[in-house]
Amino acid sequence: MSTDTTTDHYDAIVMGAGFGGLRVSIELGRLGLNYRTLEAGSGVGGVWFWNRYPGARTDSESWVYCYQFDKDLLDEYQWTDRFPNQPQVEAYLNHVADRFDLRKNIDFEAEVSSAEYDEDEGLWRITTADGRTYTCKYFIPAGGPLTASWRPSFPGLDDYQGQWLHTSRWPKEGIDVRGKRVAVIGTGATGVQVIPEVARECEHLTVLQRTPNYVIPARNHPLTADEQRAIKMDYDKIWARCREQFFAMPIPPANRMTSDLTPQEQQRILERGWETGGFRFIFETFDDTIAVPEANKIVADFVREKIRAIVHVPETAEKLAPKDHPIAGKRPPLGHYYYEAYNRENVDLVSVKENPIERISEKGIVLADGTEFEVDVIIFATGFDALTGALTKIDLRGRDGLTIKDAWADGAQTHIGVATKGFPNLFMLFGPQTPFANFPPVAEDISSWIGQAIKHLEESPDFDTMEATQEAMDAWNQHVTDLVNATVIAQGTDVHSWMLGANIPGKTHRVLFHFGGVASFYDSCQKVIDDGWSGFEFRQVAPVTAGAV
Ligand code: NAP
Repeated sequence: MSTDTTTDHYDAIVMGAGFGGLRVSIELGRLGLNYRTLEAGSGVGGVWFWNRYPGARTDSESWVYCYQFDKDLLDEYQWTDRFPNQPQVEAYLNHVADRFDLRKNIDFEAEVSSAEYDEDEGLWRITTADGRTYTCKYFIPAGGPLTASWRPSFPGLDDYQGQWLHTSRWPKEGIDVRGKRVAVIGTGATGVQVIPEVARECEHLTVLQRTPNYVIPARNHPLTADEQRAIKMDYDKIWARCREQFFAMPIPPANRMTSDLTPQEQQRILERGWETGGFRFIFETFDDTIAVPEANKIVADFVREKIRAIVHVPETAEKLAPKDHPIAGKRPPLGHYYYEAYNRENVDLVSVKENPIERISEKGIVLADGTEFEVDVIIFATGFDALTGALTKIDLRGRDGLTIKDAWADGAQTHIGVATKGFPNLFMLFGPQTPFANFPPVAEDISSWIGQAIKHLEESPDFDTMEATQEAMDAWNQHVTDLVNATVIAQGTDVHSWMLGANIPGKTHRVLFHFGGVASFYDSCQKVIDDGWSGFEFRQVAPVTAGAV
């Protein structure tokens, strides 16, 4: 517990020093604001600081999983892999923190436990878990979409005699699974990455799968010097393409629909996409996969056949082949020899869909029919309380003591994903209902938007707070709902899609992302400004000056 009882006042406080937090910190620095960044970890990186499990790697290509705001940074940084692993991304963010001298403004091991709006003073009062206190005029939670780990509360875990851990809180020193019997619960993007790595090391691995995913081969490879040079020379075009592509990836449209092609042509294109790997398999093949069920089925059938061809035991292949949702109905993971892992002698796949996990015993995992798997280590790859969890896990109170949990009891509501009614001068980076996309480029645009909003407030003598209106939030909610309903993604509710909040029992389902493409999102954000900050209410409260209070 800190013995320091003074409260430091800042113009702005950023919560989180990951991709979003570092970028918005740079924006605040450019505005000349007195700001502080509070980071729960002992280093920068956010999700890339905590998720150290073996196999952790991006699913975005390295050359666009980075910042674009500084040309010199782009020129000097050398990515070595198509898909960088966790240490490589963490190293990049450390490089950025040093290069832009951001550490001087970061308090590490400063986990925000509460944030309360003081309406009389017009400021936010922030407290950390170890008792440090701060006040600020602008509060910018930049916890990222996937920070609050989620684990099903199986009874009996306290009595378990083995070791258990969640992938998102993997110890820095790693764990030794050699000679051990291991169970992995969960086959989402994380499980898919950790399973082949653990399988190689441990004595025996039991994978407990509830919903199989369509896992696309990543086809990672080291970048050659020629590729690195070509990327740097092409950067302007690459970023321009990211602005146009639906998910902020530098992938041009396929310019063809499945319906225009013969079955033979479709298969040829899919084969080529499968060899290219990554999300290019989805976006470079056809333009109708996500919106048209018939097109989706062609692609899904192709993946099911690939699974049957790769996995030697037909019964295992059938368990792995998804049949209960369309491809992209859940976020498809990229695999690094994922299906091949099930051809190992030491790996067993158990379906827990019909026969769910009931409890944890002293020795392992017990299913509803009484089957017990005795294991030495249980790895929970069970995901996150996405988007809202980073905020609802802290005691966040806005005007009139309104808690964020109450405000969002019927589902999160925002205006352009950045602001929510009742919480003045709170700007979220990455809040609910922002685009589902390659994160770094979107974080840059939102950071810039937040910077413009704060500048607008700072320059006005007539008001000093802004707050989203209910009407604007209703309209945005309707907009994002209409968008998702035009895609197969809406069908993910039945298969626990975290993109819809359906992975957490009891969480109100509401669209958590804007699925209208980043270009349309950027237009919406610009329109708010062009229309004179439409959807926001401005007020004047007591003036606040920087310095200790
Ligand atoms: P997730 O996609 O939510 O997967 C959680 C897994 O746990 C699912 O397989 C789920 O089964 C299973 N599970 C949950 N409760 C269960 C229960 N009671 N019994 C059995 N199984 C249960 O979480 P994630 O894999 O951590 O991935 C979340 C997101 O993080 C990804 O979609 C991605 O956006 C991001 N991520 C990105 C990368 C990357 O870019 N390389 C890597 C990892 C994660 P159900 O499917 O049946 O619910």
